[in-house]
Amino acid sequence: MNALAVTRRNGGGPVAPIPIAKPHLTGGEAAAAAEAIASGWLSQGPRVQELERAFAERVGAAQAVATSNCTTALALALHVSGVGPGDEVIVPSLSFIATANAVWHCGATPVFADIDPCTYNLDPAAAERAIGPRTRAIMPVHQLGLPADMDAFFDLAARHELAIVEDAACALGAFYRTARIGSLSSPACFSLHPRKVITTGEGGMIALQDADLAQRLRRLRGHGMDVSDLARHSAGEVVIEAYPERGWNARMTDVQAAVGLCQMGALDAILQRRALLAARYTAALAEIPYLQAPFEPDYATRTWQSYCVRLSPDAPIGRTELMRALLRDGIATRRGVMAIHRTHAYASARARLPHTEAAARETLLLPLYPDLTEQQQDYVLERLSDAIRLG
Ligand SMILES: *Cc1c(COP(=O)(O)O)cnc(C)c1O
Repeated sequence: MNALAVTRRNGGGPVAPIPIAKPHLTGGEAAAAAEAIASGWLSQGPRVQELERAFAERVGAAQAVATSNCTTALALALHVSGVGPGDEVIVPSLSFIATANAVWHCGATPVFADIDPCTYNLDPAAAERAIGPRTRAIMPVHQLGLPADMDAFFDLAARHELAIVEDAACALGAFYRTARIGSLSSPACFSLHPRKVITTGEGGMIALQDADLAQRLRRLRGHGMDVSDLARHSAGEVVIEAYPERGWNARMTDVQAAVGLCQMGALDAILQRRALLAARYTAALAEIPYLQAPFEPDYATRTWQSYCVRLSPDAPIGRTELMRALLRDGIATRRGVMAIHRTHAYASARARLPHTEAAARETLLLPLYPDLTEQQQDYVLERLSDAIRLG
C-alpha cells in the first residue's frame, strides 16, 4: 500500500496522508542557515556557542555541550564518566538501538535489564539485579520523553558507586518531579534529530553541571584539541594547540546551530501543542476497546515525543493488520519502541526480559506532531476505532 496515495474519507472528500511525525518549522530556519553560511563561519563558531548557552538556560543546566548527534553525546558522556573497554553499562533493551550502540562505541558492553511494564522505562529493581563486578554505569532512558524514576537510580548509583548518564534523546522540556530534565546531577544527552522535540537536522547536546567536565567534553568533541577554533581566531596572537588526550570528531556546525536557535524559540509552543493532542488521544481512547492509553505516573511531565498505545492480545485484529488497515486509509503508524536484544546486532546478549518483549510486541505509535490538525486526529481515531471494531 502506498502511504502517499490520496485517501478518501467514507463518502467524504479526499484526506491528505498523515505521516507518523513531522518536524515543526518556524519559517525562519532557512534564512538563519543562509546567514550562517554567508558569515563564512560554518562550523563550531559563535552560533554553536549561542545555542549551547540558550540550551543550558532552558534545561536548567550550568553547561551544555553541542555534538554531532545524541549517540556521540552519549558515548562522550560515558567516556568522561570512566566507561571503557571491559566495562559493562546497564541499559534498557526497550529503546532505540542507539542506546546500546553508544555503549559499544566506548568499547564497553551493554547489559540489558527489564522495564517497568507501566511506564516502559528501565525498572530500577531490574537494573539492580543486573549489576555485576564489571558494571560501571547505568544509563536510564527517558523513553519517548517520559522521565525515568531518577531518585531510584541516584540511590542505586550511590550504593554501588556507579556513574549515571541519562539518555534524554526525546526529553527536551520534560520534568522529573519539579526538576527539569538536564538539571539533575548526571549528564543528560539530548537528540536534535527531526524525529525529536526540536531539530537541527542532526545534532545532540550534553547538559551537565560541572564546568571543568564541560570544558573537557568540548575538547574531546574536537579531536582532543585544547583550544577551539573560535578561541584561536579571537586570540589576536599565534596559538599553538596541544592534544592532552585522544578525542573524537563530534562537532556540530554553525549552520545547524543557527537552525537550532530558531527551533528553541518554538519549543514552548511545540510542547503545548503535543500535550494538547496527547490529551485528546487519551480522552478518545477511553471509548475504543482493546486499546490502552499511555500510563501517566504522577512524578513526571513528559514531552509526548511519541504517542504509544497498547493493543490487547485478545483484540479481534493483530497489530500488523491494524497498522496495514490504517496505512490503507493514509495513516502512518509505527510499531512501538524496539527490543534491542531481539535484533541480530545484539542477539548474543541472551537476556530474559518478559516485560520488554511484551511491550515490543503489543505497542504501536500513532501520528503525533505539532502540525497535526484536530480534524486529522479525529480521522485517525475514527479509522482506528473502525479497524478494531470490525476486526
Ligand atoms: C533518537 C534516539 C537516540 C539517538 O539520537 P541521534 O541523535 O539519532 O543519535 C538515542 N536514544 C534514544 C532513546 C533515541 O530515541
